[in-house]
Amino acid sequence: MTDTLPPQYFGSKPPKRRFWPSFRAGLRRRCPACHQGKSFAGYLKIADHCDSCAEPVGNIRCDDVPPYFTITIVGHIVVPLIVYTESRYHPPEWLHMAIWPALTLMLTLILLPYIKGGVLGAMWGLDITGHEHQGGPE
Ligand SMILES: [Zn+2]
Repeated sequence: MTDTLPPQYFGSKPPKRRFWPSFRAGLRRRCPACHQGKSFAGYLKIADHCDSCAEPVGNIRCDDVPPYFTITIVGHIVVPLIVYTESRYHPPEWLHMAIWPALTLMLTLILLPYIKGGVLGAMWGLDITGHEHQGGPE
């Protein structure tokens, strides 16, 4: 694996881990270490390494945290809108069924990759990068 890393990664000090800057870089889907390179290789697929500084981010496992936060955020946006719309305008049920599932799906698909980036950045900033499970005594 080390032969695939670019030369600037060797002999340099490890990147400084700070939670908030890493989290903010992650929300922009940028590398939590250098804040410049991409940390995603697709819509939700995390790249093996940053394409700018070669920080290995592929071992960071976000698991169910991004969907959990996405559901929480989208629910706190959509449910009050439903309650407000129903109490103020009393639209017919077919209109509810046309608007709210589509809005929920759209918000979820828009927010999920950015929230996953934020979780990735937060985990990197907290040094929960998966290296703790590699090698070493059992
Ligand atoms: Zn980087």
